[in-house]
Amino acid sequence: MTEIGIIAVGGYNEMGRNMTAVRINEDIIIIDMGLRLDRVQIHEDVDIDRMHSLELIEMGAIPDDTIMNEVNGNVRAIVCTHGHLDHIGAISKLAHRYTAPIIATPYTTALIKHQIDSERKFGVKNNIVALKSGDTMEITKDISIEFVNAQHSIIDTVFLAIHTPSGSIIYACDFKLDRTPTIGEMPDFERLTKLGQEGVIALITESTNAGRNGKTPSEMIAHMMLKDVLLGTEESDVGMVVTTFASHIARMNSIVQFASEMGRIPVLLGRSMERYVGTAHQLGYINLPDTVEIYGHRRDIDGALKKIMEKGKDKYLPVVTGHQGEPGAVLSRIANGDTPFKIETGDRIIFSANVIPSPMTQANRYSLETKLKMRGARIYDDVHVSGHAYREDHWELLRMLKPEHVIPAHGTIHMHSEYIQMAEDAGYSLGDTLHLLRNGEELYIEEE
Ligand SMILES: [Zn+2]
Repeated sequence: MTEIGIIAVGGYNEMGRNMTAVRINEDIIIIDMGLRLDRVQIHEDVDIDRMHSLELIEMGAIPDDTIMNEVNGNVRAIVCTHGHLDHIGAISKLAHRYTAPIIATPYTTALIKHQIDSERKFGVKNNIVALKSGDTMEITKDISIEFVNAQHSIIDTVFLAIHTPSGSIIYACDFKLDRTPTIGEMPDFERLTKLGQEGVIALITESTNAGRNGKTPSEMIAHMMLKDVLLGTEESDVGMVVTTFASHIARMNSIVQFASEMGRIPVLLGRSMERYVGTAHQLGYINLPDTVEIYGHRRDIDGALKKIMEKGKDKYLPVVTGHQGEPGAVLSRIANGDTPFKIETGDRIIFSANVIPSPMTQANRYSLETKLKMRGARIYDDVHVSGHAYREDHWELLRMLKPEHVIPAHGTIHMHSEYIQMAEDAGYSLGDTLHLLRNGEELYIEEE
């Protein structure tokens, strides 16, 4: 008899601060320790690197893991399935409380190390172990973990399979079923189907885009949209500035490649560009052309923008941070006229990103776009596809894995309800095989 507990620590009531614990009898595996950035941004002058975890828990910025004190068992591993901040951003605040290694894919472990290095309050000494997609690792004599290749909006994303004597538990947060990715392999459908045949006890999966119809467009579509915007024009000598997620390495790779095709030098500007793109380059996930320039510090960024103005905007393609209108990011500073880069009538600003639907972000973005337009910029927005599975992708994954139990995670109650409707269509029954969990709750499953 195996007793399984699924503990919803964070990210079940909201977007962000994801953390789930899976208990197999008295052995516990923690999955993700994420940060909810919008709870940090509403306060001015917050330096999270120096803040205590209890203070951040009170702000709702990191998962309230104090509930782990009431869970009966020992934590054997902390596992992260990709490197987004809402999955790894609280590691530097919480991981030191557990005597357990942190296990993630190579790119994710590199980002976790950066995270820990910038921490100023706690010393995080946990072992950090890199496990490649497709590999398996023994955690106890009864439990092993396996990384199965996935796709998402950051490289080196995996599904996690926790193998127990009674079957597996699968964690699929976050993913998309992209069959034509521009970096890496497509999700390992063969392995997922096999896992389904072997017996899946529970599937914990993101509900973020379960309410969107159809399937998520492939990253190849975003690649073609970008190509059309950047190269498909008769005004090829105007100033162009692209902004996108620094962590979206596949997208960055496309932009850098198109810059070369346009005969322009790609110049990546912003602190996070250095961290995400620089790391991906060092680890060999992307090949950057020799001409590429990356600057992270404000003085270097302004120096590069000055050079672009002097030598001619038509010779460069600046790729900058600030697509959500974040105050202080490079694009906001350009819009405010705080850099040597001057927008002229007809210059193009290309947003290869969606607007995150939170009122604060929408206000920031509105203000940014208005300022840019007032300086004469032409705006190309939403040159983007999502990294999260839509409803029919969820349908496919669910029927591929055939889990006994399903638990939507990583979303608001509204997003979970969309997932629940889809899962009911697939034959699951709410309260019996389909479970709505709130932060702080534990679901018990008994297996023969
Ligand atoms: Zn993610």
